[in-house]
Amino acid sequence: MTKSADTHCPYCALQCAMTLKSPAATAATGLTPADQPGSSPVPAAPALEVSGRDFPTNRGGLCRKGWTSASLLQHPGRVTEPMFKGPDGVFRPISWDEALGRVTTAVKDARAKYGADSVGVFGGGGLTNEKAYQLGKFARLALGTSRIDYNGRFCMSSAAAAGMRAFGLDRGLPFPLEALDTASTILMLGSNVAETMPPFVQHLQGVRDAGGFIVVDPRRSATAAFTSDGGGIHLQPLPGTDLTLLLGISHVVIHEGLLDAEYIQARTTGFDAVVRSVNAYWPERVQSITGVPAELIRETARRLASGARRGGSYILTGRGVEQHVDGTDTATAAINLSLLLGLPGSTRSGYGTLTGQGNGQGGREHGQKADQLPGYRKITDPAARAHMAKVWNVPESLIPGPGLPAVQLLKSLGQPDGVRCLFVHASNIAVASPDANAVIRGLRSLDFLVVCDFFMSETAAEADLVLPVLQWAEEEGTLTNLEGRVLRRRQAIQPPAGARSELWIMARLAEALEAPSTYSDDPETVFEELRLASAGGAADYSGIDYAMLDSGAAAYWPYPAGSTGTPRMFLEAFAHADGKAVMTPVAPRRRRTPVANPDPAAKPMTLITGRLLEHYQSGAQTRRVAELLASRPEARVQIHPAAAAAMGITDGAGVSVANERGEVVCRAELSTAIRPETVFLPFHFPELESANRLTEAATDPISGMPEFKFNKVWVRLAAAT
Ligand code: SF4
Repeated sequence: MTKSADTHCPYCALQCAMTLKSPAATAATGLTPADQPGSSPVPAAPALEVSGRDFPTNRGGLCRKGWTSASLLQHPGRVTEPMFKGPDGVFRPISWDEALGRVTTAVKDARAKYGADSVGVFGGGGLTNEKAYQLGKFARLALGTSRIDYNGRFCMSSAAAAGMRAFGLDRGLPFPLEALDTASTILMLGSNVAETMPPFVQHLQGVRDAGGFIVVDPRRSATAAFTSDGGGIHLQPLPGTDLTLLLGISHVVIHEGLLDAEYIQARTTGFDAVVRSVNAYWPERVQSITGVPAELIRETARRLASGARRGGSYILTGRGVEQHVDGTDTATAAINLSLLLGLPGSTRSGYGTLTGQGNGQGGREHGQKADQLPGYRKITDPAARAHMAKVWNVPESLIPGPGLPAVQLLKSLGQPDGVRCLFVHASNIAVASPDANAVIRGLRSLDFLVVCDFFMSETAAEADLVLPVLQWAEEEGTLTNLEGRVLRRRQAIQPPAGARSELWIMARLAEALEAPSTYSDDPETVFEELRLASAGGAADYSGIDYAMLDSGAAAYWPYPAGSTGTPRMFLEAFAHADGKAVMTPVAPRRRRTPVANPDPAAKPMTLITGRLLEHYQSGAQTRRVAELLASRPEARVQIHPAAAAAMGITDGAGVSVANERGEVVCRAELSTAIRPETVFLPFHFPELESANRLTEAATDPISGMPEFKFNKVWVRLAAAT
């Protein structure tokens, strides 16, 4: 039994370093699933002690999610045996042999009846690098399907597509986070790090105190409020107008001669087209579209330019500007602005996107995306296919082509040519997907749904079979944080006797399905194969191994064998063949005309969604932490007092937020932090409080990113209040 383990938080991409101390008395818990019918509660095992560990990203700090993370390990509601749902709709425990047999039969049946692509896999950005890698291989070779994608499509795909387009390579932050400490100006768009990853704020203290912190957010979030004391700027545009705002800032940079002409000439292509594309976006016109005062648009451009000449300027984007039907173009506009100012690839400035999920970076590199093979290779690239066929020792013809991006995959559930048998890993798609009601209908129409989870999440509750898996402190592995730094996850505690690693599950199923190639259940063995698979690719891990990570070495990819890794990217050249960054002209995209409001008592408004300090993603984990739930037990719709007064809504009153896709009923939180025509809902809650019942499954045509952050709704006082 390990008494103490240095590891990292199980939640977000900051991957705060922590130490887990295991009381000697703690043993394999062997919990029974107390929240399942027919089970009986068991006493909780002694808790692990969590402490923050000094590390460059968190400097010993943790947020309340991290502090309480160990409580889920001994949670009495944990699923610890395979649970099969009978014809009566009741889950009952079955043996692992029976569970694996049922999955094998379901896969074979679906393949025989409908073809290999009737089997689908939905992965997650919380999986370790090893699991993400093996899941892509398992789907394509063991299941023989092209239909694998993951929940990162909902969070990182637009910024990733924009980064690929501009730089030829996407790494969230292409510089260490500590670089922000000495910046003179930081423009942060659509990210609320003060609530989602609080220890990050340490890196903003200097720029805030110097008056150089600028935040773009339709809400006065905790991060936006952080600008005020130091004389920073909060730009509060109308939802859906971020792209226009960025074009306006670029317009000022060009027309006031604030650009870095030498850099543009030497290191970029496409400048002339971008100049033409921003001509029509002078500040007063942009003010009329976005609601942001023209003078603040000018001031933002000037501070970015002057910051670049002093301590450095950074532009950082988050989901608020990326989760749109023009999310890739919005991220591209942010990159164009950064290139005009000469920021990317310099020693003290840059552009970056803030990855959200724990392994959101690694999760998009190793092959669980519909269009990718390991090493961040395109699945349509003949050289990439040949390389992977060699690593896997299979004929190239066995590797399927591109699959369906996540939203299309979910829309295909139960359809004649769609997915009929679905595997879900590390995702709670019944709560986290856009148009969640439609997704739940799709899940219910499947022939067979198998969910790997440690709790009976809302998605697991829809399953035919739930396979209990390990939690983070019960396993070894690696993750890649928001800086592209590869980190070790270490085991601190024995898992419940009935739970298994996803690697073990894949290995046993591959065996049962007589799959080609080999599948290990040992994380280090899988990582060694991942190194070979990634060698020569964009995300090259071939120079990284467990021993190096265990010694504390800072391993930033690309890290080819024999190199020392790449903490700061693009210093010499960008990843396109000519070494230059590509500026691409972009323009706002017209959105669908909203459905007419059928309810004269309801007021049409715009819904934006986001996260709370206490909860993570769909809330499947954090809603089970007593302290977090006590602090934020329910969704509340944030609404401006003036808008609320016009509808007779008082603080705490029941409110209906509806549109053609569904309805949310929850209590009102009156706040001047929100614009008067806009409401905000957190997306951590299920059922009647599920914000994603209202979000639309319209997607960005380049990235497949859904439109989470701009949805038309009808708001009124709820009937029964
Ligand atoms: Fe965990 Fe993120 Fe909180 Fe750090 S900021 S403790 S990684 S949830």
